[in-house]
Amino acid sequence: MSLFGEVPQATPVAVFKLSNDFKDDPNPMKVNLGVGAYRTDEGQPWVLPVVKKVEKLIVADNRLNHEYLPILGLPEFRSSASKIALGEDSPAIQENRVGAVQCLGGTGALKMGAEFLRRWYNGNDNMKTPVYVSAPTWENHNSVFANAGFKDVRPYKYWDAEKRGLDLAGFLGDLETAPKHSIFVLHACAHNPTGTDPTHVEWMQVAEVMERRKLFVFFDSAYQGFASGCLDKDAWAVRYFVTQGFEMFCAQSFSKNFGLYNERVGNLTIVARDADNVRRVLSQMEKIVRVTWSNPPSQGARLVAITLNTAELFAEWKDNVKTMADRVLLMRASLQAKLQALGTPGTWDHITQQIGMFSFTGLNRVYTHTHTHTHTHLLSHHIRCCYCLLSVLLPGDSLYLYVQYQS
Ligand code: PMP
Repeated sequence: MSLFGEVPQATPVAVFKLSNDFKDDPNPMKVNLGVGAYRTDEGQPWVLPVVKKVEKLIVADNRLNHEYLPILGLPEFRSSASKIALGEDSPAIQENRVGAVQCLGGTGALKMGAEFLRRWYNGNDNMKTPVYVSAPTWENHNSVFANAGFKDVRPYKYWDAEKRGLDLAGFLGDLETAPKHSIFVLHACAHNPTGTDPTHVEWMQVAEVMERRKLFVFFDSAYQGFASGCLDKDAWAVRYFVTQGFEMFCAQSFSKNFGLYNERVGNLTIVARDADNVRRVLSQMEKIVRVTWSNPPSQGARLVAITLNTAELFAEWKDNVKTMADRVLLMRASLQAKLQALGTPGTWDHITQQIGMFSFTGLNRVYTHTHTHTHTHLLSHHIRCCYCLLSVLLPGDSLYLYVQYQS
């Protein structure tokens, strides 16, 4: 009898399972719509030209070594990453009340934020503080906060299936009724998975209620640049909340907008009342990082920091981001046009109205096969509930789509 004989088999993580099924499928017409990663026309990940360039600079630099980074990460990475989120001229940066923790991807940044809040936010019994995540959301939000010890992770209304858009009244209603000091995880832009963001006016309404009801703002910014092609435009909501005086967290991922998925580059930006509060928060963050990963890896952060801190490279990166965003827009337009050309019943305007990497087709399980053991379906036979359409090609009738179902 093994010591591990009692260990139950865990269910696989859906999106990774789907990618493995996809890899194993010999069908040449397959397309993977599951994972939120950018693809080229050839269905391959894109190594950004600016990344290739900076990698060469790093290799050529004899001064660099593999010494441990500080616990909180590479200082020039942390400050430049926060600047991308908050803006060059951010009042909070000028007032010296911004801090940052280099993290392992956006997931790590959410994790560090969650661990900190569970320890130090909202008094003694704070694991009971409700954490609200949008309905629907990136699946991992629930587990990251639950695993940090929060006992009450709840959905807030976000998506109106009927109108295929934001359920603003529901969202505002949940903000109004949430217990004081509840934590709200807000998607900074290009909402995953609905591709639907609040407008500026709607964000203002959200901020007004959150301020009045004393709710904690925790932005998740995983797709900056993908919504509009412009970094500043995509950071509008985050920056607006800063101008309104919120103390808040913003988890940033550089996985998508730098194409650095496996390098695990993330940053947790902290905006506080003043420098003294930032200092104490960071001192506790050090303790949490120390027992989690001790100190972060350097390669990806170095690459991002060099890019952000060198004017020409920064300009080139912005250009690369725009290339990706523009191609996503083109894919959306092509998908919509093809669906319409095929005479597919229903309206498909939401395909181009939604933004970023994800799309909700509006189709529900009623339209889908009841068996989910295989995610392979013929496009001409049924259109599925697409989770993401970043590399949709529509070569005729025999296209197999790997899609993730959102129940
Ligand atoms: N937040 C959201 C909304 C995401 O979609 C993702 C990645 N799919 C992440 C966070 C995590 O990003 P990373 O891969 O950098 O951990």
